Amino acid sequence: MMAKKPLRLNTILAVASCKCVRSILRHTGKGGGTALPGKVAMKFQKDVLETVSDGVDCIVVTGTNGKTTTANILESALTESGRNVLANKSGANLLSGITAEFCCAADWLGRPKKKVAVIECDEGALKQVAPRIHPRVIVVTNLFRDQLDRYGEVMNTLAQIRSGVEKAPQATLVLNAEDSLVSSLALDVPNRVVYFGLNTPVGDQKPREISDALHCIRCGTEYQYRYYTYAHLGDFVCPKCGYHRAKPDFAVQSIDRMEADGSRVTMKFGGETRPVAIGLPAVYNIYNAAAAIAAYVTFGGEPSEIIRSLKGVHSSFGRMEKFELPRKIMTRAESGNPAAAADATAAGMNAVVPVRMILVKNPAGCSQTIAYLCGLAEDFQLVICLNDRTADGHDISWIWDADYEKLAACSHLREIWVSGDRAEELRLRLKYAGVKTNRIHLEKDNAKLLAMMQESSLPVFVMPNYTSMLALRKVLSDATGKKAFWEKQ
Ligand SMILES: [Zn+2]
Repeated sequence: MMAKKPLRLNTILAVASCKCVRSILRHTGKGGGTALPGKVAMKFQKDVLETVSDGVDCIVVTGTNGKTTTANILESALTESGRNVLANKSGANLLSGITAEFCCAADWLGRPKKKVAVIECDEGALKQVAPRIHPRVIVVTNLFRDQLDRYGEVMNTLAQIRSGVEKAPQATLVLNAEDSLVSSLALDVPNRVVYFGLNTPVGDQKPREISDALHCIRCGTEYQYRYYTYAHLGDFVCPKCGYHRAKPDFAVQSIDRMEADGSRVTMKFGGETRPVAIGLPAVYNIYNAAAAIAAYVTFGGEPSEIIRSLKGVHSSFGRMEKFELPRKIMTRAESGNPAAAADATAAGMNAVVPVRMILVKNPAGCSQTIAYLCGLAEDFQLVICLNDRTADGHDISWIWDADYEKLAACSHLREIWVSGDRAEELRLRLKYAGVKTNRIHLEKDNAKLLAMMQESSLPVFVMPNYTSMLALRKVLSDATGKKAFWEKQ
C-alpha cells in the first residue's frame, strides 16, 4: 500500500506549471519534445519526479540503439492487454523530458493517474532517473559508439549506466547476452539478471566492421568469437580469464525468414519453443523483439500478449517511418517530354511514392541500415542527410567507420542524394567507398529534395541523422498531412 503523502504546495505548482508550459509550447507549434516544461516543474520542486511517479510500476529501456523501438513494442503489448500505460513517446528521454511526461500524466495534486510506465531513458540520464522512479525492470539493449563528443567513449557510457543500475538494486536487469559491454553490467551487482540473445550466427561471419569492444572488459585480452551477429555482438569468450557470453534465458534459436517488412524467428524461453513473427525488418529488430519479450515476461506479462502485438508492431518515430507522398507527375513543360505524364499513367504507376525514413546516428546502426537496403528486392532511390549540430554530436568522423562500401555494390540502388550541413563530407565518403560520382547528387535544399521524391518513379529511402530527420520529417509531414509525432495517439 502507498503511504499517504502530505499535500505539498510546491508539487501542485510544479505540476500546474509543467502542464501549462507544455500546452503553450504545443499550441504555438514549438513542439512537445523540448526540455522546458520539465525544467520549469523542477524549479518548483527539484525531486518532483519522485512524487509524480510514486506507486507507478516502471520498465526503463536504455542502451545505444533500439531504445525507442523496444519501448514502443512494450507499450503496445501492455496497452493491447488492457493496461493504461504512461510512455515518453516523443523521444524526450532525459530527466527533464521524463519529469514532464510524469507530471502531465498526474492529476493536479501530483498523484499519478496511470499505474504502469514504459520509459525510454538516455544512457547518461539513467543515474538521475532510476533512483527517482524506482523501476522494476531495466532493459539495456546494446552499447555502441555514439555521439562521441557528448559522452566520450563507450566505456564512459557503460560507467554511466552502471551508476544508474547501482541506484536501482531492486530492478531486474534485462541484458543483451551477446554484447560483452552490456552483459558486464551483471558483474558485482546484487540485481537479478535475465539475458536475451541469439543462439545463432547472422550474416556472412566476416570480421567485425566496427570494434567498440575488442578487448576483455575484465583483463584486456582480445576476445575470441564462436560467431558474430552484428558489430561487436556475438558469442564471445576471453581466452585468458574466461569471461564469456551468458546463456540467454530468452533465446532466438533460429531465424526462419527475413524480409523487407519483417522477420520470423523461433524463440525459446521458459522451457518452451515458440514461433514469433516480428512486423519490423532487420537483425537489430530481432534483438529489439527479444529484448521486449524478455522484459515483458519478466515484468509479469503473458508471453502470448507480446507475441501477438509484435506481429502488428509499427515502426516508431523516425526509425523506419513510412510516408505516402502524393506523386507529382511532371507537366509537359517541366519534363521537356510531352509523353512523360501519359507514360507514367500507362505504366500503371501508383499515385503515391513510398518514402521510408530510417534514423541513423552511429556507425553500427548505419551499417545495419545499409545491409538492410542492400538486401531489398526492388530498385530504389536513396537520400542521406548529415547534420553536425549539438543534438547530433559535432564530430561526424564516425561516417568513416560505417560500411558505405556495401552501397557501391548494391544492385538495386539507383541514385543517391546527399544533404544536410555536412553533405560535402558525405559525398567524399561515398566517393571513397567506390560509389560512382555521377550517381551522387548534392542537394541541401529540403524543398528541392521533396520535389525530387514527389517525382520519383521508384520508392525512396531516407537515412538522416537526428536534427536532419526533424527537418525532413516536417517537410514530409506537411506534404502528406501526417500529424506531428507528439500529436500521435
Ligand atoms: Zn578476460
